[in-house]
Amino acid sequence: MSISFTNLGPADGDNALFVVVNTGQSQHPLMFDCGEGCASELKKSDLQSVEHLCFSHFHMDHISGFDSFFRNNFNRENSIVNVWGPEQTIDVMHHRFRGFSWNLHHDQPGEWKVHEISDNEFHAAKFVTSEAFEIVHPLSSHEIAEGVIISNPAYSIEVRILNHGTTPSIAYKIKECDRSNVDMPKLTAQRLKPGPWLKQVTSTTIADSETFELDGKTQTVGNLRAEFLIKTPGESLAYLTDFCLTDAERGGVIEWIRGTDTLICEAQYRHSDLDLALRNHHSTTQLVGEIARDAEVGELVLQHVSRRYSKAEWLEMLSETQAVFPNTRFPAHWDLA
Ligand SMILES: [Zn+2]
Ligand SMILES: [Zn+2]
Repeated sequence: MSISFTNLGPADGDNALFVVVNTGQSQHPLMFDCGEGCASELKKSDLQSVEHLCFSHFHMDHISGFDSFFRNNFNRENSIVNVWGPEQTIDVMHHRFRGFSWNLHHDQPGEWKVHEISDNEFHAAKFVTSEAFEIVHPLSSHEIAEGVIISNPAYSIEVRILNHGTTPSIAYKIKECDRSNVDMPKLTAQRLKPGPWLKQVTSTTIADSETFELDGKTQTVGNLRAEFLIKTPGESLAYLTDFCLTDAERGGVIEWIRGTDTLICEAQYRHSDLDLALRNHHSTTQLVGEIARDAEVGELVLQHVSRRYSKAEWLEMLSETQAVFPNTRFPAHWDLA
């Protein structure tokens, strides 16, 4: 019943993001980028349960920590490891997988599904540990409708391709599915007791059309849901890093993240270094503040700040963004103040 997140990496190092969608019944860990040291900050159990590892792009500061992730997951037993990224992801991952001398792999479990996102479709390939990741098994391509790459009963993930100079950078938006809570006062008023029937009503795997007996009457699950469940919209989070928007692209991105609860965004340069930011296809403090303000997001969390600045300057950068969008902060663990 929430989306929680942990920014990974220090102010003066690589950054990444760990997200958990918690439905109340199940937890769904996701990871966005994997810079140096980022995977090792996570508990082993978290790292080994990541459902989707989503790369924005493959500049070194976003993939240098992948070996730690791989070492903890190469022979995962119970679930497939999913990797997402821009064009070339299958090739890049194949090289990473094959960057070791493999032995003792023949009887190991482990299956990886690697997806690369282009304009309106994604291509995928399967790799298995028992083959030492040698063979690329191509899987069918899928059209990406309205940006949605993943949709399940707990959450969806949408993507948008941003411009980062010589490589695209994929932005990700995670939406928790709308939540349904039981209207307990209504239940009490109608003298109905909670019981197994309520489990069926709240279950995400039972269809509206199914029927059962309640108080001697045949009821459809759908009718009971309409009567006793209160819908609340799920939470949302967007992750945008390493990009530079043209005026034409800006409006589209703002509409795409409009109303998102949390925006995690790069703030690589001070706005006084705008020329440098444009040259390196990055954003500035002021530009990301304007995006957050115009998209009316709930909160803006800045990461991926340039190491060219001092600690005092990073604090000034935060103030620059807060001047445009007050509800902005750095990751709590940076502890810069
Ligand atoms: Zn980059
Ligand atoms: Zn970067």
